[in-house]
Amino acid sequence: MGYAEITLKLPTDYSEKLLKKLVSQEIGSEDISFHIIKRSLDARNKRDIHFLTKIGVISDRLSGNEPVIEKLLIPDRRGTDRKVVVTGCGPAGIFAAILLQSAGFSVTVVEKGCEVSERAERIAQFEKTGVFDDLGGYCFGEGGAGTFSDGKLTSRTKSITLEKNFIFEEFIKAGAPEEIAYETYPHIGSDNLKKIIPALIDKFKGLGGRVFFGSEVSEIKRSGERITSVGITGRHSGTIDGDFFIFANGHSSFRLYRLLISAGVLFAPKPFAIGFRVEHIQEELNFSMWRKRSLPGVKAAEYHLTADCSPGHAFTFCMCPGGKIVQSAPDSISSVVNGMSDFARDGKFANSAVVTPFSLEESAKREITAGAALDILEEMEHRFFDYRRSFDVPAARISDIIRGRKTAVLPETSFPFGIAAADMSRFFPESVYGRLKKGLEIFCRKLDCFENGTAMGFESKTSAPIKCLRNEDFTSAPFANLYICGEGSGYSGGIVSSAADGIKTAMKIASL
Ligand SMILES: Cc1cc2nc3c(=O)[nH]c(=O)nc-3n(C[C@H](O)[C@H](O)[C@H](O)COP(=O)(O)OP(=O)(O)OC[C@H]3O[C@@H](n4cnc5c(N)ncnc54)[C@H](O)[C@@H]3O)c2cc1C
Repeated sequence: MGYAEITLKLPTDYSEKLLKKLVSQEIGSEDISFHIIKRSLDARNKRDIHFLTKIGVISDRLSGNEPVIEKLLIPDRRGTDRKVVVTGCGPAGIFAAILLQSAGFSVTVVEKGCEVSERAERIAQFEKTGVFDDLGGYCFGEGGAGTFSDGKLTSRTKSITLEKNFIFEEFIKAGAPEEIAYETYPHIGSDNLKKIIPALIDKFKGLGGRVFFGSEVSEIKRSGERITSVGITGRHSGTIDGDFFIFANGHSSFRLYRLLISAGVLFAPKPFAIGFRVEHIQEELNFSMWRKRSLPGVKAAEYHLTADCSPGHAFTFCMCPGGKIVQSAPDSISSVVNGMSDFARDGKFANSAVVTPFSLEESAKREITAGAALDILEEMEHRFFDYRRSFDVPAARISDIIRGRKTAVLPETSFPFGIAAADMSRFFPESVYGRLKKGLEIFCRKLDCFENGTAMGFESKTSAPIKCLRNEDFTSAPFANLYICGEGSGYSGGIVSSAADGIKTAMKIASL
């Protein structure tokens, strides 16, 4: 048997039967087996929108060798009595925990939020009552910020091939759609994540791991350069000691950041991106991008836009076709928006973040500490909450923003709280708002329906505002057994790169 890779141009509504027929024709044999390696939608020519599909074929008519897929080799540490405490049950914490427990360590995960099923009920209640719930919002709980998300699995991080293969394999084993392995823009959807994340946690527990939900790490005890234990409060309370401490705490819990800083962990401010969410009618967007209101075999049109706003640039981020805008506030007096969607992506609206790089130090016009960076960002998040003293968000029509007009009437939205017409410039530093406005003007030239959209709320969680000082062995200065990983470390952003950072951290510990 030999192997070859071929590229086929396929109609968007191709069937398995057609695919097999075309592959057979290309190879000249019916006796074949094949799998899709990569699939991307080519919509450059609106009259000929198709999938470009790379396929790996096995047949005795072929002579090539099938490439070997490199796998992550988990070190075997069975018999070790070393204990690991992982704070945070988001993608970074889950994958670090699974890897170390598989290797033979005794791992305890402490998560301040609750389990997915309870979290879903608490989120529904939050959206109904407007009363913030620390145990079950969009940021905290089983699966972390990654669970009630869009579940896009794209990552621009280089050098994570092995980790990425491991993550995708685990997701698929836990029930993710197989297409995530080959789509150019893979997407799981929040509905699937609500089942996949508990399946991953079940796997971890099946390996012998422990998870304490509803329990917050609120104390860090040290002896010299070593952390000796963490104190937890909530459903479980007491002290957990360990040999290694992984903090995979995300970047929404400023309380924990402050705890780490006060324990002596070294952090520094880092640039990130801020802006607002924009929302459009998905069908209008489909028409702009495809010249058709729908395309058989494709869920919904998605865009990735950039704009040169010299000096500086703006870009769209985390687009959620057919999705919904959510209030992902980290506490009861801050307001932060984000986006999510289900696998079908069949909602009426499309949303994405329009953001521009931002430096808290540049904005403060002085060197600042990590603690001061948190204070400044928190103050900005409070400003959005204070506009209505609620989780309703300020909003403006994009057409009004680019013409410098006040919005009179706002359109319908997917956002479950209220939207209130506002002059958005008052919430941002002048240079930031200038770039966002310029970015919108350019996006309106690139996509003809863009002007019909609405901009709303504060998008401030594109990545962490601070970064820990990480040593080559991944320990966090000045401690010898403390590892900060995932988005909270400042070294990753998004589900895949954060999970990969958790895996890399775990591999460092496992190979000691
Ligand atoms: C609504 C929404 C949609 C998103 N959509 C996408 C997307 O489509 N694709 C994508 O790549 N990314 C998306 N993101 C971002 C993505 O979810 C994060 O990048 C990712 O979850 C980061 O993983 P993490 O494990 O580092 O941290 P988190 O997922 O933030 O997990 C950290 C965990 O630590 C816990 N924790 C914090 N402090 C404590 C404490 N003191 N004690 C115990 N536990 C604590 C938190 O409760 C939390 O569960 C989205 C985020 C949101 C909010």
